[in-house]
Amino acid sequence: MQFKDIQGHTHTKNLLIQTVKENRISHAQLFLGPEGCGKLALAIAYAQYIACPNRTETDSCGVCPQCQKYQKLVHPDLHFV
Ligand SMILES: [Zn+2]
Repeated sequence: MQFKDIQGHTHTKNLLIQTVKENRISHAQLFLGPEGCGKLALAIAYAQYIACPNRTETDSCGVCPQCQKYQKLVHPDLHFV
């Protein structure tokens, strides 16, 4: 999941991207909102963005091995609780 695949949430995407740019990634993030609002997609896109070694200013590359594992939801650092 890449940020470009998620409709809206521009402000939240920018906030999340900014944390990576400023090297201020929190040890935990809570994505809260009504069912179907896109919070899970945002969380996965954020995790993929953090892990991608070829990320751009605004999104993960979507093609590297890290991104491919996130897109298949099989990356070893991706856990659902
Ligand atoms: Zn990538």
